[in-house]
Amino acid sequence: MSLPSLWEQETYYAHSDVIIIGGGLMGLWTAIELLQKAPSLSVTIVERHSSPLGASTRNAGFACFGSLTELLADEAKMGTDAMLRIVEMRYKGIQKIKTYLSGNTIALDPCGGYEPLKNYAGADLLDSQIHYLNGLLKPITGTDHSFLNATDQLAAIGLKDFDQLIFNPLEAGIHSGKLVNGLTRIALQKGVRILNGINVSGWVETGNGIELNTNHPVSLRSNQLVVCTNGFTGALLPQLNIEPARGQIILTAPIAGLKTKGTFHFDEGFYYWRNIGNQILLGGARNSDFNNERTTGLEGSDFIRDILLRFLQQHLDTDQPIEIVQHWSGIMGFTPNKLPLCQPVSANVIAAIACNGMGVALTPVIAETVTKMLVSG
Ligand SMILES: Cc1cc2nc3c(=O)[nH]c(=O)nc-3n(C[C@H](O)[C@H](O)[C@H](O)COP(=O)(O)OP(=O)(O)OC[C@H]3O[C@@H](n4cnc5c(N)ncnc54)[C@H](O)[C@@H]3O)c2cc1C
Repeated sequence: MSLPSLWEQETYYAHSDVIIIGGGLMGLWTAIELLQKAPSLSVTIVERHSSPLGASTRNAGFACFGSLTELLADEAKMGTDAMLRIVEMRYKGIQKIKTYLSGNTIALDPCGGYEPLKNYAGADLLDSQIHYLNGLLKPITGTDHSFLNATDQLAAIGLKDFDQLIFNPLEAGIHSGKLVNGLTRIALQKGVRILNGINVSGWVETGNGIELNTNHPVSLRSNQLVVCTNGFTGALLPQLNIEPARGQIILTAPIAGLKTKGTFHFDEGFYYWRNIGNQILLGGARNSDFNNERTTGLEGSDFIRDILLRFLQQHLDTDQPIEIVQHWSGIMGFTPNKLPLCQPVSANVIAAIACNGMGVALTPVIAETVTKMLVSG
């Protein structure tokens, strides 16, 4: 690789106030939020691929804040207050997206979300659980009906072999590529420098700031560093114990007469699907092969693909053949306590990672925490 010119050195590779590693949702929101609060900062995002390649452009595009069974399970694990705090962050995050990007720009589909249930242990208590959670969530969502019992719609919505159905009218679908594209445009307009094709293998902290070790011949320097590498963080900061978790997705060919519309979660979020132009996008089944899915490798497996196909054959009420036309995967990052992580790792380095399976909603809010840590006042 040739050495840089003076011009390149003084522009693309000039010293930055803040370098962000990772050009996914976390990196983009962090850059935007930093320049919102401190417009004079110089901010550079360093991304190793030609376009972000992890979770942000490979997810399912649900703008969601948690299904009923997930929230009840979270409450049992972390307590009511902590569960509500995280719901509030997700809900605020979704509203924030809408203030930055129009519904058209991100192909927002306010279709509502469903959670079908099968052999649910709390089946008899469902109505009282809905009533209980609606009461807790009202101060956040502003409605008495965050969740509704929609069991009588199971057949109308084209699902079979489930017992009950919960509807959340506040949930929506978005186009994940358009969201990342839209945020990239905003970041560039604010003056963020985005350098693609640079893989960071580490950094050195000196009295003068930070110097990145990369695959590039030019040295990249900054005063501060934010690491937004999600499921790939183990290679840079193993001490944070971020566990990679691959999520695989299949997309069917269009299915004539498809009645299933909306976003859907099942089995504590281990299965999720939605209708996109009469094609079903279905992801999940990681819980069928936890060991092999604990990986940063993006190649999917036939094993999971087949489980996903069988799931559709079992639960989609259609007499049409179900054909898979696309199969891809993305990598999530999980913290030991399953909560998002935003913390200093040294005097001038902050890690903002692991929005788990809900980064669409959480990254805009976690970016505010990062900014508060970096910009005083
Ligand atoms: C299959 C799947 C489905 C999902 N569905 C949803 C959903 O419906 N709704 C929802 O809210 N969330 C969903 N998520 C989670 C959501 O996508 C993530 O929480 C979010 O995208 C995380 O954003 P990020 O920027 O932290 O990570 P990423 O998007 O993974 O970005 C990290 C970036 O860092 C770069 N990078 C890594 N290491 C280096 C390095 N050493 N040098 C330079 N660059 C580096 C990578 O190339 C990558 O582009 C899903 C995730 C997956 C995988």
